[in-house]
Amino acid sequence: MNDAELRALIIKIIEEEMQQSIPIGVSNHHIHLTQSDFEILFPGQEMTVKAPLKQPGEFASNQTVTIVGSKGEIKNVRILGPCRKHSQVELSKTEARQIGVNIPIRMSGDLEGTPTVTVRTEFGQVAIQGAIAAKRHIHMSDKDAENFGVTKGQAVKVSIETEERKTIFDDVIVRPDPKFVLEMHIDTDEANAANVGKNAVAKLIKE
Ligand SMILES: [Zn+2]
Repeated sequence: MNDAELRALIIKIIEEEMQQSIPIGVSNHHIHLTQSDFEILFPGQEMTVKAPLKQPGEFASNQTVTIVGSKGEIKNVRILGPCRKHSQVELSKTEARQIGVNIPIRMSGDLEGTPTVTVRTEFGQVAIQGAIAAKRHIHMSDKDAENFGVTKGQAVKVSIETEERKTIFDDVIVRPDPKFVLEMHIDTDEANAANVGKNAVAKLIKE
């Protein structure tokens, strides 16, 4: 093998390696609201942007709410905007247990049979049916999906390696969309279990 061939091979290996690295976004507890639920909780107010999220068009708002269960409550739960067609509360299993709510693990929007929690602000309160722990998933563009050789809704296996822990997550759902940016979403329970810190990346395990 000559120098040029060696260089080409090294570049190919690095590119393949980089291609397989998936940035991790840890989702803290949050809530999505319909326009009408937002108006009950914040009468006369507009939802305002605190910070954009990595997925285009999505943002953390300045407004927060309190989630109330039978055994306790969680304060300062941030609203993620913009408004949606259905309100949805996303907690970790640990947090849900602490406030006395038994939540199923679901993909976003799959809310049939999910429990109802009370959501409160200083201005009002509303009962929202749709409390879940989000099923872990990977946002990606259609191009990413093609590069990874995966398809919408496919369950894949992913490894996360940190200095002190190596973890494999199975049953991670692929969510390609033309406007999505490559990012794996896990909740705080999963992040702690895998010792995920800043700049942690996941790798797709090819089978
Ligand atoms: Zn997500």
